[in-house]
Amino acid sequence: MISHFADSALRPRYMGMAADSVGKRAESCAADGRLDRDSWQELSDEGLWRLPVPVRWGGTGGTWWDFVAAFEGIAAGGRDLGFNLSLVAQAGLIRSILLYGTDEQKETWLPPLMSGSVGATALTETTGGSDVTRIRTAARQHQGHFLLSGHKDHITNGPVADVALTLGRVPEHGDRDITLFLLDLRSEGVTRGPVENMMGNRTSPTGPITFDQVRVDATNIIGGIGAGIEAIYNTISLDRLLYGVLAAAYLDPLLEDVLAYARSRTAFNVPIADHQYVQGRITDAKFAVEATRWVSYGALDALLKESPQTSLMCSVAKYHAGETLKLGTETALRVMGHRGYMEGPHTQALKDALGTVIAGGTAEIQRKNVFNQMRRLSSTH
Ligand SMILES: Cc1cc2nc3c(=O)[nH]c(=O)nc-3n(C[C@H](O)[C@H](O)[C@H](O)COP(=O)(O)OP(=O)(O)OC[C@H]3O[C@@H](n4cnc5c(N)ncnc54)[C@H](O)[C@@H]3O)c2cc1C
Repeated sequence: MISHFADSALRPRYMGMAADSVGKRAESCAADGRLDRDSWQELSDEGLWRLPVPVRWGGTGGTWWDFVAAFEGIAAGGRDLGFNLSLVAQAGLIRSILLYGTDEQKETWLPPLMSGSVGATALTETTGGSDVTRIRTAARQHQGHFLLSGHKDHITNGPVADVALTLGRVPEHGDRDITLFLLDLRSEGVTRGPVENMMGNRTSPTGPITFDQVRVDATNIIGGIGAGIEAIYNTISLDRLLYGVLAAAYLDPLLEDVLAYARSRTAFNVPIADHQYVQGRITDAKFAVEATRWVSYGALDALLKESPQTSLMCSVAKYHAGETLKLGTETALRVMGHRGYMEGPHTQALKDALGTVIAGGTAEIQRKNVFNQMRRLSSTH
């Protein structure tokens, strides 16, 4: 499977597209703190979101490997980490609908999401994001339907999204009441706060969403009442490995730039590329990039095969994603010396990278999950 994916023509196609769209607009979108909806639409029109969706539901019948190839192309061609974080938020949402949605839900929700609508995945609340089981957003029964109330914070695409996969609870259902709701964000009772003022990833606007007695019907519930935890962990698993795929694809061209700079810049009468300490920094970044890339492919393979190792592998991929992005962008800044430290693309890359040790579950939470999974897997032998 992995060798099939490596031959894909999708990567260069999307790389070229993203260089002409995402790449050209990234700076102005970052200055304005907005999602590049034009590029989003162009990529949707090209068929990005149809790639992993079966023909029966309006897709092109490919696999998540095809999506990954296109996604890598966008990361490498667009060179805008934030834009890709927005793509990750929607990818998990589409996978959840495919896996847990009814036929009716697939017919209703997939066509707009494949054609340019923007999705969000809303878990985090003001009281904390790491312990998702503590969420307070809740739906209460009312005349044959539910009314959902609660507040979400830091939601990627939140300020602009059309649809949100939202984690809440249905207290009347009893202890295991965590439930996933699919909500049209134009519904009555939904309000959004302003775009949050983050230090990086400003092309991926995050913000709060408040639900005030939003009407919820059976068609809004994904996977059934009380089935939210299993479904959200599956969604998060795809998101986590996509961070790893993103880290490697985004850093590939950055490391090429670093190498080119190291060859052209001289110190002590030779190119700095000839100094072994400089070489060591570049190779350390390369070790991390390749390890992250291949562990992420392994995690996708595990996810699609429903391997018992899936959760562990996806956390390993996510952990390495954040650390590798941090190392890779810091390496670029260091090798470029004072030029790297001037406010510009390299400081921006480092600021963007720092967000990935928090978004999608912090590094500590990946460690916690990896240890829990190791314990679980060893007790099953
Ligand atoms: C760029 C960006 C995009 C985001 N997009 C989304 C989104 O689309 N949807 C969404 O729902 N959320 C989103 N978030 C929020 C993100 O998921 C949370 O910030 C994250 O889960 C951490 O939650 P918290 O900030 O509340 O920190 P807390 O949960 O309060 O944790 C604070 C600190 O304590 C540590 N900690 C907590 N529990 C443990 C433990 N058991 N063991 C060890 N350490 C622990 C954490 O690692 C962290 O360092 C985004 C965040 C960022 C930065």
